Amino acid sequence: MDIPLEPLRVANAVINSVNPQDLTDDDLYRLQHIFPEQTVIGALDLIDRGNVLKYTTAWGHTEYEVIGSSGTYLVLLDVSSAGYPYFCSCPAFVHYVLQQKNHTMCKHILATRLANRLLVCIEREMQPDDLAALYIRQFSLTDQDQSADNLAAAEPAPISRLQAQDAVSIQKQAILRDI
Ligand SMILES: [Zn+2]
Repeated sequence: MDIPLEPLRVANAVINSVNPQDLTDDDLYRLQHIFPEQTVIGALDLIDRGNVLKYTTAWGHTEYEVIGSSGTYLVLLDVSSAGYPYFCSCPAFVHYVLQQKNHTMCKHILATRLANRLLVCIEREMQPDDLAALYIRQFSLTDQDQSADNLAAAEPAPISRLQAQDAVSIQKQAILRDI
């Protein structure tokens, strides 16, 4: 995976410089300098709504879920084995960060990084069964996304061209909302 990491280092430096007590005007200014305005506003809105959930297991494993406008997404902040350290299960992350490589984070990852910095994640303890349920929830979400994405190609006869366009346009709107 050939993602330019320098913009991410700058983004992380700015996030790590945010005042942990409260976001200042200077913090906001710097964030809006390196992220699109809608990403910053979207991330802060998610935090305000208490939509960044941090699950911790008894053995110290941490997972995040972010309740977005189009779904609930799994966010990982330490994917050390991959070429990119973060992961979000939203379509915008795949589209803009992994494929087009013109964004460093979707709003869910930015919200999770900021909520961690500001200590405002909604914290929950997680049992092994809960962890299993979270993965099942996320994997089934991914399957739905893929089926919507491939709707036009996979369904030759029953779907009209108009319906296929609708599906693609709904998918695009969802992606735009998440970045
Ligand atoms: Zn996302």
